[in-house]
Amino acid sequence: MERKEFQAESKRLLDLMINSIYTHKEIFLRELISNASDAIDKIYYKALTDESIEFNKDDYYIRISADKENRTLTITDMGIGMTREELEDNLGTIAKSGSLNFKKAVEMKDGYDIIGQFGVGFYSAFMVAEKVEVTSRAFGDNTAHRWVSQGADGYIIEETEKKDPGTQIVLTLKESSEDEDYDQYLDEYTLKRIVKRYSDFIRYPIRMMVSEYKKKEDSDDYETVLEEKTINSMVPIWRKNKNELTDEDYENFYSEKHFGFDKPLKWSHMRIDGMLRYDAIIYIPSSAPFDYYTKEYEKGLELYSSGVLIMNKCPELLPDYFSFVKGIVDSEDLSLNISREMLQHDRQLKLMAKKIEEKIKDELMDLQENQRAKYEDFFESFGKQLKYGLYSDYGMNKDRLKDLLLFYSSSERKPVTLKEYLERMPEDQKYIYYATGDSVDRIDRLPQTELVKDKGYEILYFTDEVDEFAIKMLHEYGDKEFRSVSGEDLGIEEEEVKEEDKEEGKEIFQEMKAALGDRVKEVRFSKRLKNHPVCFATEGEISIEMEKVLNTMPNAGDIHAEKILEINPNHEIFGKLKSAHKEDKEKFELYTELLYDQARLIEGLPIEDPVDFANKIAKLM
Ligand code: ADP
Repeated sequence: MERKEFQAESKRLLDLMINSIYTHKEIFLRELISNASDAIDKIYYKALTDESIEFNKDDYYIRISADKENRTLTITDMGIGMTREELEDNLGTIAKSGSLNFKKAVEMKDGYDIIGQFGVGFYSAFMVAEKVEVTSRAFGDNTAHRWVSQGADGYIIEETEKKDPGTQIVLTLKESSEDEDYDQYLDEYTLKRIVKRYSDFIRYPIRMMVSEYKKKEDSDDYETVLEEKTINSMVPIWRKNKNELTDEDYENFYSEKHFGFDKPLKWSHMRIDGMLRYDAIIYIPSSAPFDYYTKEYEKGLELYSSGVLIMNKCPELLPDYFSFVKGIVDSEDLSLNISREMLQHDRQLKLMAKKIEEKIKDELMDLQENQRAKYEDFFESFGKQLKYGLYSDYGMNKDRLKDLLLFYSSSERKPVTLKEYLERMPEDQKYIYYATGDSVDRIDRLPQTELVKDKGYEILYFTDEVDEFAIKMLHEYGDKEFRSVSGEDLGIEEEEVKEEDKEEGKEIFQEMKAALGDRVKEVRFSKRLKNHPVCFATEGEISIEMEKVLNTMPNAGDIHAEKILEINPNHEIFGKLKSAHKEDKEKFELYTELLYDQARLIEGLPIEDPVDFANKIAKLM
């Protein structure tokens, strides 16, 4: 018999499972039951769409049986089964998880629940079993195959006999030790408890031999008899009444479905009974999966038609800006035969999507208003997506999204909403001010913020690349326009420059502009500086932060902000400039260049020629 190697990544995953110190090993059963249920779903779905197949729901179930003597636990299903190739492909390799993602996850810190995130379901059996045997016969196939593995040293596949289609998985449990009790998984009560806890909502019967304490016939004596019983309630969670369900039920369902490795922040159970009837449960996760902001991430809700799964991720049910939402929708009014293309145009689906979107918005607003800390966590994870949403599609969704935004505030020293900003705004303040930069710390130290802060006005800090783009799209909030602290006209009246400096300044600035050429649009006195000598202001649509972002994009061309070099008339540097201008032209040119370079450094822009810059400073010294 030929022994086959696991594909490299599967092997790593297996090692991880075999040596796992994961505390909830019992979830292996949830994983195997969930696979079994999926396999029955597949047959059920086939039968519903193909009249030649008969499906009598009562014939389909999942059986669990424990053999204490041989220390084996067997899970049997009447599902679709697997062919030889499928056994090989599905159990020998991690196909879907994607090699890249998996590597990343393994390199990540503990805390990351790989099991939850990847749905590496089947392999979790190796957390409790030293040997796993899978015997399967695919629906419509006459031959059956057995796949056997004892872990990292590979697996074998051989032909075997099996009467009915379906899959049987036999786990030979590991020896119990001081630290770990594996024998408990042979115990009737433990098994019942695990099934109840994680798999109660599975829609097919999960049967098991259980001991019943019964009164004997024709006598008053009692005896213990073994009987096969269905141990799950079989009602899907979304069909249950909200008041029957606990937080734990919703959280368990979230992990059972592999919606995320985190705990959901919030959920909503919807029961819509109108022209179109459907049940839905939507979850707002607390943290973003690590592939969230990549192309690989697929959005969507699970879609069911009267309890039959039609699609794992139906993207039409979620707008891109709410792509982080997880959950399920089940409708009696959707046709089972609906195809992918039809879904995109389906009117009913559109109606559901609209309602769900409104619900998500309401839930988020509710979180923002009533559980602020949680909302801040949420925004930390997904705020960027909301801002992209505001910016994309030509700002079509800006009104829906603007109240969900949070920005760090200079005065509150924490994230605030635009509404809160507006409510606090003094009457004489004309604009909503913002400043951009890499971090809160850096923005705090920006010279351009001096005047606005001095006036006692609040500044919103934009630290995400997308922030300024999104705000430009929004343009205003509650009739107040947004203004960058580096932009034109801050709407703040300030005392004028001294008369005698005005004339002289004009002449000096003209010469500075001539020396700097196209690098600046203008040199002038600053109205926004208080203590700092110099800064840039910008004119026009493109700010310096936007210049930075746009220049990192391929094929962006050469995009530049129109920079204005501003000099503080009340700083002693202006006196120095004046005397250099009168007495020493060479020094004057040196000062001009250095002030320009300083303004660049303050903005976090690279110095065009660092060696030259160093030489200039040395010369001055
Ligand atoms: P997942 O369930 O997330 O796809 P698993 O590793 O648990 O990942 O399973 C891999 C694949 O193996 C499944 O997608 C399915 O195609 C197949 N499979 C697993 N268990 C069964 C089963 N009991 N019956 C039929 N196919 C199964």
